[in-house]
Amino acid sequence: MHFGNYFGAVTNWVELQNSYDCVYGIVDYHAMTMPFKPAKLRENTWELVFNLLATGIEAKNIFIQSLVPEHAELCWIFNCFTSYGQLSRMTQFKDKSNQAGEDADGFISAGLLDYPVLQAADILVYRADYVPVGKDQEQHLELTRNIATRFNLVVGKEYFTLPEPLYTEVPKVMSTADPSRKMSKSAGAKHYINVFADEQTIRKQIKSAVTDTGETKAGEMSAGVSNLFELLKASGKKEAWESLMDDYRNNALKYVDLKEAVAEGLVEISTQIRNNKAAIVADKKQVKEIIKASSADIRKKAHQTITDVKELTGLLNVKL
Ligand code: AMP
Repeated sequence: MHFGNYFGAVTNWVELQNSYDCVYGIVDYHAMTMPFKPAKLRENTWELVFNLLATGIEAKNIFIQSLVPEHAELCWIFNCFTSYGQLSRMTQFKDKSNQAGEDADGFISAGLLDYPVLQAADILVYRADYVPVGKDQEQHLELTRNIATRFNLVVGKEYFTLPEPLYTEVPKVMSTADPSRKMSKSAGAKHYINVFADEQTIRKQIKSAVTDTGETKAGEMSAGVSNLFELLKASGKKEAWESLMDDYRNNALKYVDLKEAVAEGLVEISTQIRNNKAAIVADKKQVKEIIKASSADIRKKAHQTITDVKELTGLLNVKL
């Protein structure tokens, strides 16, 4: 998890828990669509659980996808309500299959093509009203709505409500090493700041942040400085933000002061999250039991949907 994910998505998920009935899935079935190592898959699944708990996602709202097999079951049924043509036109499939095609053996799994159908099942199995997606996921949500529409039409009942995207104003965090590109892991180590990094590393990365490359027009704030101000605001350092912005307007801003304030803000957040995580990991066994129980609880809703879907589609609906 880097500060791009954190400010751009995770803090929003934490906030949404106050106003909505939320469920958040750790999607290990999805993680199998690209080349993966079995031992690492399980380790990453738990690691993500610990990380999300450390940021403030409540345990009762977290489930692990493969513990709710109804996701895969509904995915199969939805496959029969989805056209091959539409799947092959998905932008993310094209990007990822190109990427996979360049890898060692050029293997592109059918799971990668089917990924958005499983995603539709993830959403509709809970009969969700809203999905807090980024703009990059708009196309997939549209597919989900298409599947729901077709399903309702075929079974002759408005069973699924069409889920809406829930857009929230979130900052777009840029790479501190190259503020013209998004902070992202895929661009390499210097292009993202890990939320779980130690204090020294975070301070060092902010210290070396690009500020002014001399390419900015007169009277315009450079992308690097603007990104640092954005990070400062996202860290909740309102007073420091105002005072440094005053300096900027008066042509008196010292980059070293801005960087110092940003580093302070990020380190505070990181320290809090790292401390939370240490407490969680110290009680790993217990936490795993809690998440298994929350998954079982969340599964009840998914099970009800599958039961209804079997009834509606003419599949046998009997208990063995
Ligand atoms: P990813 O792990 O890249 O798929 O990102 C997970 C979530 O974090 C998505 O909803 C993204 O929109 C969001 N996100 C990722 N990178 C950034 C960034 N640099 N700035 C803002 N949001 C981001």
